Amino acid sequence: MPDFQTTLAGSLPKPFWLAETDKLWPAWKSSGAELQKAKRDATLLWLKEQEDAGLDIVTDGEQSRQHFVHGFLEFVEGIDFEHKVKMGIRDNRYEAMVPVVVGPIRLKGRVHEAEAKLARAHTKKKLKITMPGPMTIVDTIADRHYGDRAKLAMAFAELLNQEARALEKDGVDVIQFDEPAFNVYMDDVNRWGIRALERAARGLKCTTCVHICYGYGIQANLDWKQTLGEEWRQYEKIFPALARSRIKQVSLECIHSHVPPELMKLLKGKDVLVGVIDVASDKVETPQEVAATIRTALKYVPRKHLIACTNCGMAPMQREIAVAKLQALAAGAALARKRGR
Ligand code: ZN
Repeated sequence: MPDFQTTLAGSLPKPFWLAETDKLWPAWKSSGAELQKAKRDATLLWLKEQEDAGLDIVTDGEQSRQHFVHGFLEFVEGIDFEHKVKMGIRDNRYEAMVPVVVGPIRLKGRVHEAEAKLARAHTKKKLKITMPGPMTIVDTIADRHYGDRAKLAMAFAELLNQEARALEKDGVDVIQFDEPAFNVYMDDVNRWGIRALERAARGLKCTTCVHICYGYGIQANLDWKQTLGEEWRQYEKIFPALARSRIKQVSLECIHSHVPPELMKLLKGKDVLVGVIDVASDKVETPQEVAATIRTALKYVPRKHLIACTNCGMAPMQREIAVAKLQALAAGAALARKRGR
């Protein structure tokens, strides 16, 4: 394997014929069998774009789900979607209409089987499938049954584990849990967040990953980032415990963020997915910029543990820009490899 493998956080924009564009919660353009076919076509399209860009670890682009959390919740019994309630999420950073847990939760069946099997049949590259992490799910849903966030997180972790084991059998190489809530509730991460994450990953032999970011480039996140000061040190409180966990990879923000890069040193022994592509800006990085970010990270992350990635998902971006950014990512990693010899 060459140094500096490349991958993306997970999501990619949906084509206009699949769903509304430039939106985080896009409405589907069709339904029933027609929608299933459209999802399939969009997944294949993005596999091809990722391969052509030259990425090493590809995803389904999350083309089959409307939103990264609710795409999972739709497959869970014990949740009332009919009577959503307004709730402040991510420590009241935004208000959202969220479904309510009203009874014991159970999976209705497989969640990501169709897209995982489809992607596996059509690419020889390493395949990654993403799911929301237990703490982030708990932070995106109201609860009238379990009465305790840690207990609810453990219950969701069991369901995530069930689907993750099935995905592993489908031939998925990397299972990533998205935990943007991890840099909001740092004390809870150490109390029960990592325990719940490890429960979700229990028994997996494939590569496991956790993605912890400062969110998509939407206004509420940009406003929140303004309040975080000159240096964003949230990672400092959670990386030591993550380094001791059984999760193999950690995906973090780097380029254009205020995260002090030396915090990456705290992830000793882990593969570090360094964000070298800014998803909050439409300006496409040059390969030189990508290579420069890789060089900065190399001061703190051993070469064999450094994987170049995007800061976060690209779902709300314009399609052409997302493609150009994937190309810049791969070209920048290639440049860094060449210079490193
Ligand atoms: Zn993210």
